[in-house]
Amino acid sequence: MTVIQTVGVIGAGQMGRGIAQVFAQSGYDVMLQDVSSDALGIAEGFIRDRLDRNVSSGKMTVGERAETLGRLSYGSSIEPLGARDLIVESATEKEAVKVAIFESLLPHLSDHTLLTTNTSSLSITRLAAHTDRPERFMGLHFMNPVPVMKLVELIRGIATDETTFKTMQEVVARLGKTGTVSEDYPAFIVNRILVPMINEAVYTLFEGVGNVASIDASMKLGANQPMGPLELADFIGLDTCLSIMGVLNDGLADSKYRPCPLLVKYVEAGWLGRKTGRGFYDYRGADGIPVPTR
Ligand code: NAD
Repeated sequence: MTVIQTVGVIGAGQMGRGIAQVFAQSGYDVMLQDVSSDALGIAEGFIRDRLDRNVSSGKMTVGERAETLGRLSYGSSIEPLGARDLIVESATEKEAVKVAIFESLLPHLSDHTLLTTNTSSLSITRLAAHTDRPERFMGLHFMNPVPVMKLVELIRGIATDETTFKTMQEVVARLGKTGTVSEDYPAFIVNRILVPMINEAVYTLFEGVGNVASIDASMKLGANQPMGPLELADFIGLDTCLSIMGVLNDGLADSKYRPCPLLVKYVEAGWLGRKTGRGFYDYRGADGIPVPTR
């Protein structure tokens, strides 16, 4: 099995920063990379804040916090990531973006480096085919928020070898997470089930069956969901939800996966949910209370 000590995380958005945090907390040396220096600054502040909270709540000592921070570095250049033992790609959910990242990484990669992607829906086999090492490439799908959620889906591409798979199983265990295995089909297991449910909630809103508040209250109180589906969509990011529906629609060619036109409209407006301050709820109020937008 490959020994993993150094990790490069590409994309410092809501997932990448959480992934970097849990790897650093678990003893790995982590470099977090993003093309946006704003995203890197926000990620660094966010991770510090989370670790401070862990200390205040007694989950971590002051010394552990300092050690974790000491294992994290940040940068906008991709070249230094090439020498790492493991890459976790977690940039924007667009195939062209991910392909361009792997292609720009290739000339700098060490022979031993394992490549993984946190894609929510895209074909692992197709992404792997854009690299020089499809046998050492696989899907490592974390859940949001990464420090809290226990699951990681492990997805082999058609060429992924057993050593890579076993190595990543060990890594997931060392992170304190539970791995489940999914085949490489559009959106894997969790999002194949979850995101069409969210899309159906948006149709329910679009067709006027209920408003935002009634749809979320119905599913929380009536189906025992901890978050309503529209609240959850805002949490995931409406662009990511739309992108996953697009992959399901294209990949499975069944009309039940048609993205709701209202979801498309919110994304066109740039109302992407919590990360932009507005989605199915408006989060910009001074009191911090989310206000339904429909
Ligand atoms: P996000 O929009 O919060 O962050 C994406 C980040 O990628 C941004 O900071 C952006 O600057 C960066 N980026 C874009 N192009 C880049 C490039 N060429 N090089 C480096 N960085 C680049 O998105 P997110 O929610 O963190 O999602 C990231 C990935 O994680 C996606 O593949 C998504 O499908 C997956 N994912 C998301 C969730 C979720 O609930 N949001 C859950 C599991 C997996």
